[in-house]
Amino acid sequence: MASRYTLAQSQLCKNRTVAAGSARFGDGGFTLVGGPCSIEDEVQMETVAAAVAASGGAMLRGGAYKPRTSPYDFQGLGDAALPLIAAAARRHTLPAVVEALSEAQVPIVARYAEMIQIGARNMQNVPLLRAAARSGRPILLKRGPAATLDELLCAAEYVLLEGNEDVVLCERGIRGFDGHTRNVCDLGGALRLKELTHLPVILDPSHATGRRTLVEPLVLAAAAAGLDGAIVEVHPDPDRSKSDAAQAIDPAAFKRIATRVRALRAALVEDEDEAEVYAVAG
Ligand code: PEP
Ligand code: MN
Repeated sequence: MASRYTLAQSQLCKNRTVAAGSARFGDGGFTLVGGPCSIEDEVQMETVAAAVAASGGAMLRGGAYKPRTSPYDFQGLGDAALPLIAAAARRHTLPAVVEALSEAQVPIVARYAEMIQIGARNMQNVPLLRAAARSGRPILLKRGPAATLDELLCAAEYVLLEGNEDVVLCERGIRGFDGHTRNVCDLGGALRLKELTHLPVILDPSHATGRRTLVEPLVLAAAAAGLDGAIVEVHPDPDRSKSDAAQAIDPAAFKRIATRVRALRAALVEDEDEAEVYAVAG
């Protein structure tokens, strides 16, 4: 059977570097994105943006329109959130990524954010994929909680078919049967994606596990294993987050992650250099 995602297949071109403002995904580095689940107010965004920038994070995240499971939970500030994230990002020379929940939200998100996120619940929302692709902004495409890798790649294909080649794939956990983690973090699946496609692949350990204690070890695992980056939820006062409090980390924890990722990568690169020397000598 002919492949159903020809454009997304790695065989056809080399690994792609996706640029989103000053951030780069897939250039051989490990790109850290940090920010709150929901944009709440100016002080919150300023505090987080300052922390992400000072720690060496490459991009600021924040939700304006929240796809909450319950309609009674905080739904995000909506349009009013966008100037807050854009201003905080600009003050700290970070690009921003914001989710668009509907086609109608694409133009305003594209105006305020350098990258548009398509959330897990919308991975197969074809009109939204097409509209986001046509905005010309790079797309952060999250894997649906019950989507196969082929389905994720087919979703990416809808974006590529619009002529937008800038898609970053994100593993954010799939539905499992055990309640101790919010989802099952499919690190193996994310690595298999790297074999299947030239597109960058990052990990979201926050939504994958729902537990702040598991964020750092999974970011380190992703960095050690060769994924292209991670997106994590950071809040100045995690327990007071208006959404996803249990998985939010504070700025100090984000800094520690960034520092440890750098140390880990330095150790691994040294090993690679040594391996190369041995190969030449042998
Ligand atoms: C988010 O990143 O804000 C989010 C809602 O994630 P997901 O779509 O992966 O659930
Ligand atoms: Mn969240």
